[in-house]
Amino acid sequence: MQGDTAPAQNVVIVGGGFGGLYTALALAERRQHPPVLLIEPNDRFVFLPLLYELLSGELRSWEIAPRYDSLLAGRGLAWLQDRVDRIDAEKQQLHTRAGRTLAFGRLVIATGAESSTFAVPGADRHSLGFRTLADVERIQSLIADLKRHRLPLQRIAVVGAGPTGVELACKLADMADGSAVIELIEQGPQLLPQARAFNREQASLALQRRDVRLRTRTQVASVEAGAITLHGHPDGDAAIHSETLAVRAVLWTAGLGFRPPRIDPAPACDGRGRLLCGADLLLHGHRHLFAAGDLAAQVDPQAAPGEAFGAAGPSTAQVAFQQAPVLASNLIRSLRGEPLEPFRWRDLGEMLSLGIGEASLTTAGLTLAGPAAYQLRRLAYLSRLPGRSHQLRVAAGWLADWKP
Ligand SMILES: Cc1cc2nc3c(=O)[nH]c(=O)nc-3n(C[C@H](O)[C@H](O)[C@H](O)COP(=O)(O)OP(=O)(O)OC[C@H]3O[C@@H](n4cnc5c(N)ncnc54)[C@H](O)[C@@H]3O)c2cc1C
Repeated sequence: MQGDTAPAQNVVIVGGGFGGLYTALALAERRQHPPVLLIEPNDRFVFLPLLYELLSGELRSWEIAPRYDSLLAGRGLAWLQDRVDRIDAEKQQLHTRAGRTLAFGRLVIATGAESSTFAVPGADRHSLGFRTLADVERIQSLIADLKRHRLPLQRIAVVGAGPTGVELACKLADMADGSAVIELIEQGPQLLPQARAFNREQASLALQRRDVRLRTRTQVASVEAGAITLHGHPDGDAAIHSETLAVRAVLWTAGLGFRPPRIDPAPACDGRGRLLCGADLLLHGHRHLFAAGDLAAQVDPQAAPGEAFGAAGPSTAQVAFQQAPVLASNLIRSLRGEPLEPFRWRDLGEMLSLGIGEASLTTAGLTLAGPAAYQLRRLAYLSRLPGRSHQLRVAAGWLADWKP
């Protein structure tokens, strides 16, 4: 597959997250699929919606972070452990960090998002993220340390009361078991602004039961080693209230940034740096480049004014998961010169992890909270884990652990 000699009928997928891996798996299910190469620098896929349960020890790393070599084995899919630095759209070639030049017939760019600290002074340097297996290990050792040396007024600040911040705050409070106060900082007027009312209420109750201190209308002004400075408008008035809190750690969950590989010529992007694409997920102005997952900014000309997401959907695993079969189909159609089909997101509902053994969910016709919701959420995600054989291995593990 080196240089100009590569076949022009292959598919290369850049990024093995929800958008990339599930598209590769969907292609593998098609009879006589084209050669597929997945390029991903990490050796394990991470099923991010269950990262909280890995943190708390409710699930094990092999369950939520299977290795790519075992996921792709025997499916006719190739994996290259490397990072793509540059894409030449005209020559249909890409260049990797390890110095390879590879040709592609069709390319999927699914490099996802990374956390953004909005240039808040000190935030990059002094806060932890919550996205990788290394982040989980760092937070687990922090909690172990807090519990070993129980000192008065130990604090952890979680920045951002979106789903990740709220779910993380609940798990942390349970894990810390009274050894630390959890402060949840939100610049907007309420937690979970885009959530269903039922889930928002359940989340609010879960935070209160765990004594998590929610500070809304509060911005992070700076982060230093051991301290966070906040500017708040606690009563919604214009006067700024400034406060510096001593903290053991700051966990940053607010905001997403996008840093795809360099693409020549530069493609059209939205104001957040996501790649503009049509309903068929083809990049604007390109015939061979597709986007998937968080990075794909699908323009929906039919979106009603004020409609939150239109056909494209929000930046979630649920959307990337739904894009995968449509994109697989479009890649094959595109190689055959056939018309492409549009992707339309179907809102299947929303689930939140709310502490150890608890969750809240809202789907069509069902709202549920507490331990039953926790079990349902686990089952729903079991059926979303990548690949049938991995799902069966995990299900067998859960059955073996089951105590009636
Ligand atoms: C903690 C957490 C919990 C979440 N919970 C939920 C949830 O409950 N429900 C839900 O629907 N969504 C959830 N999400 C959001 C969801 O995980 C994302 O929307 C989803 O992962 C997007 O898929 P993606 O393929 O765009 O990106 P990702 O899954 O992030 O994958 C991108 C991949 O690209 C790779 N990559 C990056 N740059 C390069 C490069 N230059 N070359 C090659 N590879 C590269 C990365 O290593 C990564 O593996 C959660 C996110 C987080 C962080």
